[in-house]
Amino acid sequence: MQLMNNKKPFGFLFCLKKWYNKDGDDMLNVAKKILSEIEEHGYVAYIVGGYVRDYLLGNTSNDIDICTNATPKELKEIFLDALVPPDDYGSVIVTFNNIQFSITTFRREHSYLDHRHPDEVQYVDNLYQDLLRRDFTINSICMDKDENIIDLLHGKDDMNKKFIRTIGNSDQKFSQDALRILRAIRFATTLDFCLTDDVNKAITKHKKLLSSLSYERKREELDKIFTSTNAKRGISLLIELNLLEELEIPKLREVHYTDSLMAIWALLDVVSIYPFTSNEKDLMKDIHEAYLLNNLDPYVLYRYGLYVNSVVGEMKGESSSEITRIYNLLPIHSRRDIDATGDEICACLSKAPGSYLKEIYEDLEHAILYGKLENKKEDILSYCISSYHEL
Ligand code: ATP
Ligand code: MG
Repeated sequence: MQLMNNKKPFGFLFCLKKWYNKDGDDMLNVAKKILSEIEEHGYVAYIVGGYVRDYLLGNTSNDIDICTNATPKELKEIFLDALVPPDDYGSVIVTFNNIQFSITTFRREHSYLDHRHPDEVQYVDNLYQDLLRRDFTINSICMDKDENIIDLLHGKDDMNKKFIRTIGNSDQKFSQDALRILRAIRFATTLDFCLTDDVNKAITKHKKLLSSLSYERKREELDKIFTSTNAKRGISLLIELNLLEELEIPKLREVHYTDSLMAIWALLDVVSIYPFTSNEKDLMKDIHEAYLLNNLDPYVLYRYGLYVNSVVGEMKGESSSEITRIYNLLPIHSRRDIDATGDEICACLSKAPGSYLKEIYEDLEHAILYGKLENKKEDILSYCISSYHEL
């Protein structure tokens, strides 16, 4: 990579924090200063991809991608605190206030043997070449440091027509990288855009390649589809394009949509295939169990809580206001609400504390919730004496 007209000495300590706090800048202003800094060192740089797409559509973005003809090594000399990928081929990452600025050197990608990662990456000195390797025209629009829009591949036209169109040949794009199949559906969902005919056909042709993707990447994209306000359309697209078998989520056909992400995953029954945290697994187990029960039953409401029962009730078409009403009327909502302590129960039975208390508590919960016993200390203790004096 040729260095062009260096105006500034290298070694400048990049201080995003100072910029950000001093001017009360927003993410875009910080990014524009990054562009200026790169350009002052003799390179060119643009904001590209998701941020520009969302900016033009009036949507907010969480991160900004920047592309430049400076190599990672050259970027590291400009931004001393930047994270540089070990293999020198990834993006240089600059993070501030949890906002990631990802700076990627213009590149051309060669053959993709595993349908996901390019086997060879070659830096190029030219924006147009870099744009050609990207996925969809709407993701190829750039912005310079003065907020001018540079749209070499006519992404704005497709944005106005609400089209998800690949850059170049759709067949080639999807066979190179199967993640693009899910990205296409994700963008069609979140933006409420249509897939072009070519994209539709190429997805159908290459859908088998979805099995080459890691479950982590598949889950990330599916999460974005399921949590979109337009999720129902995304789910319809996955069904219409016949991708459920490839994604190993055939039960999506039967799932009654809910805006609880974990409820959808729970009913897809893929806990042994897709990656989940232990908290997510616990929640899915509860949802699964509660789904098979009567969500207006006092003990079920108590045991699984309002959230799980509401979500499950919604999926089963039950009235959420009725579930909330009955839940709020429960005499106890947790074991702590029982009006007798373990010590008091042990004392009334003249026994030392022991594992037998667990059984007593379960019995008390049922008796109180089903209205057989009032949640009053004297009643509870006399109930314990009469039921458990022989323990
Ligand atoms: P978002 O950040 O909202 O998820 P995005 O389009 O910015 O959407 P990123 O993963 O941040 O997605 O990627 C930044 C840009 O890199 C994209 O806009 C696109 O130009 C390019 N890109 C990302 N993933 C791919 C891919 N699999 N194939 C080709 N180009 C890609
Ligand atoms: Mg992005």
